Amino acid sequence: MQHYNIAIDGPSGAGKSTLARRLAKRLGCMYIDTGALYRTIALSMLRQNAQTDAEITQALSGLTVNMEHIGGEQHVFANGEDVTALIRTSEVSMAASRVSAVPAVRAFLLDLQRSLAQTHSVVMDGRDIGTVVLPQADVKIYLTASAEKRAYRRFLELEEKNPGAQTLESVLADVIRRDEQDMNREIAPLRQADDAVPVDTSDADLDESEQMLLRVCEEKLGL
Ligand code: C5P
Repeated sequence: MQHYNIAIDGPSGAGKSTLARRLAKRLGCMYIDTGALYRTIALSMLRQNAQTDAEITQALSGLTVNMEHIGGEQHVFANGEDVTALIRTSEVSMAASRVSAVPAVRAFLLDLQRSLAQTHSVVMDGRDIGTVVLPQADVKIYLTASAEKRAYRRFLELEEKNPGAQTLESVLADVIRRDEQDMNREIAPLRQADDAVPVDTSDADLDESEQMLLRVCEEKLGL
């Protein structure tokens, strides 16, 4: 079977994980959600109250992060504990954005991400996959949508889990703050790779967005 790597980058809430998961299923390859790896580290740092770059770097030496696919779903482990269900809170989102700006954290995850892509055909989503992690990826997509649309989608998701716990305004403020952090950091900032295909999902539903991504992949991979 042909081996290929598909990199999907973009800001939070553009639909990367849902669409990357669907795409991987369609193409029969492995989906890797790299944000979950940063979130795993963030959770561990929150628990240890590691805040400064030096504290975070130091705490990494006692941490093992693993990823496994169980029943087709990606699970993440911190020192052997399955933390998959604990990493989707707003607190962990903000902390992930913070720890991901620490150089030692990015170096810590680089080998893991690259070795997964070497041994499997993957759809990998994140912020720096096409620019740093897999600069030779066969397909690079930059997935985006307006901040308002992204915030609205995230708001509906959060409301489903925890009705009334947030307002659309607070979710929009978080989205904008996280975008700023992710785009303006010195190391591996979120940006579109020169050879990435931009896909804007502002006015598309999930099925339409999936079709747009599939078309890009089929064309680039000659499927
Ligand atoms: O994609 P997700 O929202 O789960 O990512 C959480 C945070 O992890 C992002 O805000 C970003 O700061 C960081 N991240 C990153 N590089 C990646 C994936 C995620 O810096 N490849």
